[in-house]
Amino acid sequence: MYLGAIEAGGTKFVCAVGDELGNIIERISLPTTTPDETIPQVVNFFRKYEIKALGVGAFGPIDINKNHSNYGYITNTPKIAWRNFPFFQTLQKEFQVPIGFNTDVNIAALGEATFGAAKGLGSCLYITVGTGIGAGAVVQGNLLQGYSHPEMGHILVRRHLEDSYQGKCPTHYDCLEGLAAGPAIEARWGKKGHELTDQAEVWELEAYYLAQALMQYILILSPEKIIMGGGVMKQSQLYLLIHKKLDELLNGYVTLPPLNDYIVPPGLGDNAGITGALVLAKQMSLS
Ligand code: ADP
Ligand code: ZN
Repeated sequence: MYLGAIEAGGTKFVCAVGDELGNIIERISLPTTTPDETIPQVVNFFRKYEIKALGVGAFGPIDINKNHSNYGYITNTPKIAWRNFPFFQTLQKEFQVPIGFNTDVNIAALGEATFGAAKGLGSCLYITVGTGIGAGAVVQGNLLQGYSHPEMGHILVRRHLEDSYQGKCPTHYDCLEGLAAGPAIEARWGKKGHELTDQAEVWELEAYYLAQALMQYILILSPEKIIMGGGVMKQSQLYLLIHKKLDELLNGYVTLPPLNDYIVPPGLGDNAGITGALVLAKQMSLS
């Protein structure tokens, strides 16, 4: 059985055809330009296969509540060409198969929960620290969803006393994403993250903010595993720094597994999202 998967990111679309075991048969990567340009290329890729269902993980914000009139839309994204784009509806017109539609981080959480670092567990949290910060949670085997999807990257954190950077979130300035996503690191220190590897203070401050966020996620959700991915987490020294700061913040209040086994990189590496989209497609094929 062929299943289709789309990981629609702000810079690139990854499309794949795979099977129900999460194996990828063919994949392509396309630049995210405008719907008029990108969508026909996506459609063209899948035309070669008779897919049984399609799973989509999209950058957001998007509306994932089926009771809403704009279900399946990308809503108020800063990417103007994609604002109010009826993504699900456009795909449904092209493919007469069941289509699952969710956020990019939610499908990565689903991928990791099914085939990755949280395989066999009923719950996990997947966080990406990249161009933005976002997280998806699996709770009792299901993606956490309410009125729409959580936006865990925009929580407030205590500012470090020596950090005077105003913050880069266009909506909140100094929310977590505004202080700790890749573009904030670059704006604060004047260099891209990968050029700052040797500057210890950069990663101390980064861990200071990320550990606060993790503390709040743990206190609210108590996930069984926390998976941290995204470009910024390629700085692998961050894991240890985060463990240390989180330990200080929690101060023994909650019992957790050893942190080096609890807060981990994605088991599926850069394939967490696209694999999760295949899992979503499989779920849709059974529904
Ligand atoms: P996206 O969030 O667009 O899907 P990424 O997860 O790759 O893409 O995140 C891109 C961000 O991560 C950029 O701000 C980039 O500077 C930062 N980044 C990428 N690689 C590294 C690295 N090795 N070290 C630190 N930061 C990095
Ligand atoms: Zn924000």
